[in-house]
Amino acid sequence: RAKSAGGNRFELADPEADARAITRHGLTTALPTALERGEFFIEYQPLVHLGDGSVRGAEALVRWLHPQHGVLGPDRFIPLAEHTGLIVPLGRWVLEQSVRQAREWRELQGGAEAVGPLRINVNLSPCQLTHPGLVQDTVDILERTGIEPDALCLEVTESALIGADDDLLKPLRRLAEMGVDIALDDFGTGYSNLANLRRLPVSILKLDRSFTQSMQQFPADPVDLKIVEGIVSLAHSLDLAVTVEGVETGAQAEQLRILGCDTAQGWYYARPGPPERLHELALVDATG
Ligand code: C2E
Ligand code: MG
Ligand code: MG
Ligand code: MG
Repeated sequence: RAKSAGGNRFELADPEADARAITRHGLTTALPTALERGEFFIEYQPLVHLGDGSVRGAEALVRWLHPQHGVLGPDRFIPLAEHTGLIVPLGRWVLEQSVRQAREWRELQGGAEAVGPLRINVNLSPCQLTHPGLVQDTVDILERTGIEPDALCLEVTESALIGADDDLLKPLRRLAEMGVDIALDDFGTGYSNLANLRRLPVSILKLDRSFTQSMQQFPADPVDLKIVEGIVSLAHSLDLAVTVEGVETGAQAEQLRILGCDTAQGWYYARPGPPERLHELALVDATG
């Protein structure tokens, strides 16, 4: 429809698509140098223990402060970064910053660590999984920072691991053997074979937000309850911990706690925010 006769001229019939294409193009050209220009920053969202409400760690979520468009969420630029290959250096930068941040929290925590040092969760893109430097980069960052591997959790989406062969799983196995936790992110959206979980080197399931949303009503739909109950019991029988995403209300938190989920994350506790905020939340929590 947008094509016109002759040469490279296009007649755009859809002005909105046109605007999107321009934005996309603008982002694509600005992206490669955004890392050098220091335009990325990280927000942290607390991970809360459902049993006692204590803050146990945080997920690192990257943002781009674009000079013209303002703050852009990862959904706007991660796909572009994957497409252009920037995701590898960007992902490495996020990992290093986040691990350094975890060490800073630890120093601030001092001796007041009733629940142990705060842990840090970092998202990995499928492109990073196939990049040969992943294991060594991670080892180097942990060594430089002086953080034990078991304070780090790498989140990989279920869809990235569906049908994964041994070559793809090898770096994750190496990391898991070192003590790094691997979490299966957005679990339940990818139609993966549950029996398949056994061969993945994961120790945490992050139940997708759609399950949390189905707990909106109280009491929730009995079928939804059964499904979550089944996933939780399967996970626990495989020695996997269950984290729930997108908890927005106290009723959801309570329902998911009763169903046996271990850890929760969502706006009910806190929106993603600057590192000082996470530290404040953890501190308030530790001192009662
Ligand atoms: P994710 O890893 O599943 O992260 C959770 C997303 O849910 C985040 O969106 C978070 O802000 C949002 N969220 C948290 N609590 C709630 C809630 O209560 N309600 C609702 N509606 N949403 C909530 P965000 O920050 O926009 O990130 C989107 C996705 O971008 C992430 O999904 C992750 O897949 C990806 N991402 C973020 N940072 C990175 C990164 O450094 N590297 C890579 N490769 N991907 C990243
Ligand atoms: Mg995640
Ligand atoms: Mg997730
Ligand atoms: Mg999600």
